[in-house]
Amino acid sequence: HAKQGGERRYCVFEPSMTEHLNNQLGIETDLRLALARDELELHYQPKVSSGTLSLLGAEALLRWRHPVHGMISPARFIPLAEETGLILAIGRWVLRKACTDLLAWRELGLDLPSVSVNVSARQFSDSTFVPTVRQVLEQTGIEPHRLDLEITESVMTGDVERAVQILLQLKDMGVTLSMDDFGTGYSSLNYIKTFPIDTLKIDQTFVRDVTGSPKDAAIAATIITLAMNLNFSVVAEGVETAEQADFLRSRGCDVFQGYWISRPLPGEAFADFVRKSPPRA
Ligand code: C2E
Ligand code: MG
Ligand code: MG
Ligand code: MG
Repeated sequence: HAKQGGERRYCVFEPSMTEHLNNQLGIETDLRLALARDELELHYQPKVSSGTLSLLGAEALLRWRHPVHGMISPARFIPLAEETGLILAIGRWVLRKACTDLLAWRELGLDLPSVSVNVSARQFSDSTFVPTVRQVLEQTGIEPHRLDLEITESVMTGDVERAVQILLQLKDMGVTLSMDDFGTGYSSLNYIKTFPIDTLKIDQTFVRDVTGSPKDAAIAATIITLAMNLNFSVVAEGVETAEQADFLRSRGCDVFQGYWISRPLPGEAFADFVRKSPPRA
């Protein structure tokens, strides 16, 4: 990634670098075409109640099925989409697709309470974002409370007051808001206090060693307590084992998401998961 070498004052020319660059350029061109060529798809990862394991919602996770390179991870192409501005068109597609998928499942008799969509900082700060969300809600007709937007702490790095205004406009529409990757960004507790969000998602880096590292356990437990005291619901992401789940549940975590429940699934497989899910109490 070009930015990682940013501190270098000069460059030693290496064949691997041109290769890397060409690759980046090729990928960028391909990403421009990915939408038109129908190469993007959404997979869905369940979010379940920590007590009953009943299904509370699902997070839409973008996948790019490249004709030559195969599946490309969002960790690789989302940053590129942000740099190039393609994230705006891609983000609109994701929003619309997630809402229409939710409606399509309902037609099949599958009730998914809520669908979560990731929103990158570039998307969030664009003036078209709020109107786009409003338009998608109107055009699809899904109830606003069934749409959850996952934002990260990076939206607070710019103009915080403006960010709060945008969040308030979204809340006014009736959508719910989750703070993703909580604990990894730059947010101060002061921001958390002023942000009109519904949910904190504990970043998976704290969940990973929650049963092995007393420090990670303390951080996870503290985030859960913070969320409870501020009346946020709290989701643990990256839950991979029963031991992690037991610890998090014992500390009051409401919602689990992770491989222990299910990997992100393509639409058909996700529909099967919904069918087999225990009913909500
Ligand atoms: P995220 O929003 O924090 O999503 C959670 C990531 O953790 C996903 O990676 C998911 O597959 C992975 N994960 C879930 N459970 C486990 C687990 O138990 N163990 C481990 N090791 N990993 C788990 P994924 O799908 O590769 O997405 C990576 C990131 O890309 C996302 O992080 C999100 O920031 C971004 N992303 C994905 N889809 C979109 C999108 O539609 N729009 C935007 N703007 N960003 C997206
Ligand atoms: Mg997310
Ligand atoms: Mg996350
Ligand atoms: Mg993450």
